[in-house]
Amino acid sequence: MKVNVAQVRNKEGGSACFDLVEDFSSFDLGTEALSFQAPVHVQLQVNNTSKALLVHGTIHTDLKATCGRCLETFVYPFDLSFQDEWVFRTLATEDQLETALLLDKDEIEIKDRIFEQIVLALPMKFICSAECQGLCPTCGANRNLTPCHCGESNIDPRLAALSKWQFND
Ligand SMILES: [Zn+2]
Ligand SMILES: [Zn+2]
Repeated sequence: MKVNVAQVRNKEGGSACFDLVEDFSSFDLGTEALSFQAPVHVQLQVNNTSKALLVHGTIHTDLKATCGRCLETFVYPFDLSFQDEWVFRTLATEDQLETALLLDKDEIEIKDRIFEQIVLALPMKFICSAECQGLCPTCGANRNLTPCHCGESNIDPRLAALSKWQFND
């Protein structure tokens, strides 16, 4: 996933757009429960502000995720807008050395940087739908597929205590 900034780097106020698609499936998302289901599509607008190259980007892909409630796999559409700052290493300020993407030549490989953006934006937990009923803690059934009757006769002891307390009032 390479970008060449030769056109925009010498023109203050200039901008350039890039439209990139690449397979990220070799990247490890840190858990077997999560993988890339589709190529990653990146659109960038790069603006030369004289101090740096200011980047506005969007990232789109589909992830194969495992639902944290029902444990089924599902396709999670991933969309992200982000901003970034790129600067030539020799021109970077101290702050930019810490946070910006440092360039040594006109052509840059941005795959790692894009992957970083994706990882930072991943949710803590993947849920297949807001209505997901999850697994029954008693019989283990997926309650989205097979409604069970485990919950009906067992009243939560905490609730039972609470209702008793209320009736004694
Ligand atoms: Zn689910
Ligand atoms: Zn059950």
